Amino acid sequence: MARVFSGIQPSGEMHIGNWLGAIQNYVALQDGNDCLYCVVDQHAITGAYEVATLAERTREMAISLLAAGVDPSRAVLFVQSHVPEHATLAWLLATIAPLGELERMTQYKDKAQRFESVPTGLLTYPVLMAADILLYRAEAVPVGDDQVQHLELARELARRWNAAFSRESPFFPEPQPILSPAKRIMGLDGQSKMSKSLGNTIGVTEAPEAIWQKLRPAMTDPARKTKTDPGTPEICNIYALHRHFSPPETVEHVATQCRSAGWGCIDCKKVLATNMSERLAPIRDRSLELRGDPDTVRQVLGDGAATARRMAAETMVEVSNRMGFLVEGA
Ligand code: SF4
Repeated sequence: MARVFSGIQPSGEMHIGNWLGAIQNYVALQDGNDCLYCVVDQHAITGAYEVATLAERTREMAISLLAAGVDPSRAVLFVQSHVPEHATLAWLLATIAPLGELERMTQYKDKAQRFESVPTGLLTYPVLMAADILLYRAEAVPVGDDQVQHLELARELARRWNAAFSRESPFFPEPQPILSPAKRIMGLDGQSKMSKSLGNTIGVTEAPEAIWQKLRPAMTDPARKTKTDPGTPEICNIYALHRHFSPPETVEHVATQCRSAGWGCIDCKKVLATNMSERLAPIRDRSLELRGDPDTVRQVLGDGAATARRMAAETMVEVSNRMGFLVEGA
């Protein structure tokens, strides 16, 4: 059994890219591991953000996680800002984090270009991520390929901290990546990774009609200008989505119909919309139940935060002792 930590941004309702790329793995990892899943609201404020909707987006993401199968009896589900030790440990780790390595982070370099005056929080974002993981002394972290570099920094900080303050017996484990099977889900524009900020998503709790309205104009193989033009399914994102949501015989049928111009893209998308709606129905139904039962959601997040705070406090006692701070009351 490994201790597993993972965080997800409070982008509101989870989209199918999150679900296929990460959350199905979260659910599977609950079998046989000691899992902590966190809605990382403090990570979501490193650029301009909508203050008025942050709390609701956080709650909605927690609801989506529960609806998708995160089970509070087998995993700790909580909100990052409910455990102040995340920020405390991030500060302590920042004192040993090498500036050059932070400046070399690919995501930092990409995002920094969008700012005239770059906020320090953008630079130290990976330090907070390291704190999230090390606070629970997690041994494994499910990550997408875009987070591997940040996890490597967390491992580096664990090594540096152990070398400086815990030489005899390393206190922090070096967290290992659990790379999810390559599932890079493209957005409905067919151009970029599915992302809420790009507006190219389908939410896991969307109603069948809403799913259809989003799929209908979605990008397909541009060679299929008319119904009689044959296409190449492998370059079409609708086909990629069929592979995730339709049974194998349908996937085969899609490929044949596309290559032979046996049907039009609208026919193809209708089949996908039906299969997607059916697969997502249990998540949609459970979300609706949870939205109507805010006490249960509050209770789950309250219990999760209490457990996480207990674990975090134990870590911080050890960290404070090893770093030489005066213990309160001593
Ligand atoms: S028929 Fe289907 S797979 Fe082929 S291009 Fe159209 S939407 Fe894509």
